[in-house]
This record gives sequence, structure tokens and C-alpha cells, in this order.
Amino acid sequence: MHELSIAHSLVELAIEAAEKTGTKRVKTLYLKLGVLSGVVKEALEFSFDVVVQGTPLEGARLVIEDIPVKVFCPDCKQAHILPEPFPMRCPVCKRRTGQVLEGREMELYALEGGEEDAGSDVKPPDR
Ligand SMILES: [Zn+2]
Repeated sequence: MHELSIAHSLVELAIEAAEKTGTKRVKTLYLKLGVLSGVVKEALEFSFDVVVQGTPLEGARLVIEDIPVKVFCPDCKQAHILPEPFPMRCPVCKRRTGQVLEGREMELYALEGGEEDAGSDVKPPDR
């Protein structure tokens, strides 16, 4: 399954990022997923829950933000967001356009730490 290996690399990426930023416990992962990325959102969510077991990320949640297709229309000289990924036409002048600006990406853009994260939950010094 395609999504299983993607989930694997996401978990690895997040563990690496958490180590770098000193986040002890990752609570939530935020992922941008373009509708043209070819990744099935539900399958990725399911795979993530499977893959995350037994890793330092166990119990973390994956939040996926759908990124719609954005194309550049040379006639309008403007970027448009398509309400549907297909057909790939300018929604204003209906010209066919192949220039996709957004919608293919898959990007882990934020990690949220849990209670033990020293960055977001600094305890006052004991005196
Ligand atoms: Zn147009």
C-alpha cells in the first residue's frame, strides 16, 4: 500500500523534527495534502495510526488539510482555485490550463507538542 510507506516517512520526519526542536512529546502533526497528490486521505490517516504504534509518536494525531488545485490562467493573468480538481480549466474564462501552482504538495508543516513540551508549557521554578 502506497499510503503505508508515506505514513512511515511522515513518522520518521516528525521524530527527526521533534528531536531537532526539543519537543519531547508530539501531540499533533499537521499535514498539507494537495488533492492532486495521489494520496488517499482516509488511507493515509489509517496507515498513520498503524505505523505510529511503538514509535515515540505513539498516540499522536494526524491532522490533514486539503489543498485545492490552484492554476494559473495566462488569459486572465491570474491564479484561480478550482472548485473541482478536474477538468483543469480556468473557472472564469474556461481556457484549458496545465499550469498547476498548488494541489500537488504533501507537506508536514507543523508539529504540536504535548504537556511535556518545555517550549509551550514552561513551569515556574520551584522555590
Ligand atoms: Zn482565465
